[in-house]
Amino acid sequence: MIRTSAYILLIFIATARSADAFVLTGTKWPQAFLGAPVTLTYSYANLLDGGLLDPNNQPVSTAVIRGSIQEALSLWASVAPLNFVEVPDIGPPISDSQYAFTTGMADIRFGHHLIDGFGNVKAHGYYPSSPVLGLSGDVHFDDYDRWAYVGSLTYPDLLGCAEHEIGHALGLDHSLDLNAVMYPTFHRMNGLGTGFLTPDDIAGIQAIYGAGKGSVHPLPEPGTIVLAVTALAFAGLLSWQRRSRGA
Ligand SMILES: [Zn+2]
Ligand SMILES: [Zn+2]
Repeated sequence: MIRTSAYILLIFIATARSADAFVLTGTKWPQAFLGAPVTLTYSYANLLDGGLLDPNNQPVSTAVIRGSIQEALSLWASVAPLNFVEVPDIGPPISDSQYAFTTGMADIRFGHHLIDGFGNVKAHGYYPSSPVLGLSGDVHFDDYDRWAYVGSLTYPDLLGCAEHEIGHALGLDHSLDLNAVMYPTFHRMNGLGTGFLTPDDIAGIQAIYGAGKGSVHPLPEPGTIVLAVTALAFAGLLSWQRRSRGA
């Protein structure tokens, strides 16, 4: 009887383990309690400087880079109480060395540098509470790789890669689930708007921060500010015309 119970218990444990394929790093960003909102700042260190190239050796556009990062952050924020707020980047050039200072730096800095040349490793993301000063949460893409809009094994896409690396930056290790975004070979996506998380990824992030909904707050792009000013000036002109016509 005792043996039977132990056997059943073993089966239960084995089943539970196979259901939870995600792996936690054991580190996380500070949170008051499970499910409480967490606000993290992010910045583009050198990611928008034209140093990331596509398979034709042309710079990946700012719209694709910002769109990919924002979509990847939104996916994680759609299932956990994580609020991402973009801030202007300050801080030293991107490297894997300890930074001399960290005051005022964003929690998650996105950048690029040579990691291991073309192929193999495409990017890396530092866990929260990285022992290397200033690197916690930072995500670096290999600028010796070539970045496609629709990802393939040879030419990955930024969206699929960013989703995976942000998972590390939030405290997830590699999942054992072949289908998970956090599986070592990350999913290639088919362009902006095609990103997704799997149930295993969602269970993993919710095990760390609890279930909930967060948000993404990008800084307005310079072009957007010009448009907004133009729109305001136009509205002002219209109201002046109306007033001068006595409307
Ligand atoms: Zn790096
Ligand atoms: Zn990874």
